[in-house]
Amino acid sequence: MSTPWFVFDVGGVLVDETRVWQGWAEALGVPYDTLWDALKEDIRAGLSHRHTMQRLAPGHDIMAIRKARLAHDAPLEHDLYPDVRPAFAALKARGIRIGIAGNQPLEAQPALEALDLGADFIATSAGWGVQKPHPRFFEEVLRACDAPPHAITYVGDRVDNDILPALAAGMRAHYVPRGLWAGMGQSPVPALEGLAEL
Ligand SMILES: [Mg+2]
Repeated sequence: MSTPWFVFDVGGVLVDETRVWQGWAEALGVPYDTLWDALKEDIRAGLSHRHTMQRLAPGHDIMAIRKARLAHDAPLEHDLYPDVRPAFAALKARGIRIGIAGNQPLEAQPALEALDLGADFIATSAGWGVQKPHPRFFEEVLRACDAPPHAITYVGDRVDNDILPALAAGMRAHYVPRGLWAGMGQSPVPALEGLAEL
């Protein structure tokens, strides 16, 4: 029998992105609630975050702000959801191996390593050169785990980017809808309240 793996998305699963969006609201000169509501509205309409920011702050160079914010936006200890460390400890006690792999910039890698969560591997889309929901991202997950797909459970907060492509790759999936994408899309697997339920 293969060793079971749980592989975790980052934003909305391990990391509460509230601080990041507060920073963006400040940079764009709009109230946090305005940005949050606009992002949700545009997600439902299938529009990108960049589109939302541009329409809220038409005069701003969004890509320049993003570049300037990359170091600030990397996850810090106080951005972790409080259930992350207890869940990781419980999974490890059950002999489950842990991976972390999300759509993240290169800057997230050292920041996640510094949190010292005890993961067996940490990877980013930027490091792999492919973003979810592309199937190649999930091939990279398979390679990193060196395990068959049925031994791997991917844990994500997005139906479109996490749950559906993980299932399509033959993995199991756990849906933890919290954060910006909560309530977007119909998940074929039941929603969990948090990581304590894993
Ligand atoms: Mg996410």
